[in-house]
Amino acid sequence: MAIIITDECINCDACISECPNNAIYEPGDEWTYADETALSGTVSLPATGEEVDADASNEALSDEFYYIVPDKCTECKGFHDEPQCASVCPVDCCVPDGAHEETEDQLLAKKTWLHGE
Ligand code: SF4
Ligand code: SF4
Repeated sequence: MAIIITDECINCDACISECPNNAIYEPGDEWTYADETALSGTVSLPATGEEVDADASNEALSDEFYYIVPDKCTECKGFHDEPQCASVCPVDCCVPDGAHEETEDQLLAKKTWLHGE
């Protein structure tokens, strides 16, 4: 499943550079699927099949804390053995997101979707 950042986040910035998918954003920042991925133009989301514009800016998911875009988080599968954000977070506020449960195969497929083969 994806990882989520809780309201215990102290906005220390330690996690953002660790994410291989650029799934983590600063509070209030807009995000895109295309940021640091191979995605561009119209793409279909792996989870729902919904078509979106990968280059379009989307509203911040939090104005108060660092946040993770679930459709860009792969639990670091394909890159690292452990979620890197959780590894570096000084207050352990990067936790499994029960609202976005996925199998390892689904996470690896998402990694391929984000970056290509
Ligand atoms: Fe990024 Fe990995 Fe954290 Fe997901 S678990 S947000 S892919 S660093
Ligand atoms: Fe927040 Fe933890 Fe990331 Fe620091 S490392 S910004 S406390 S989620």
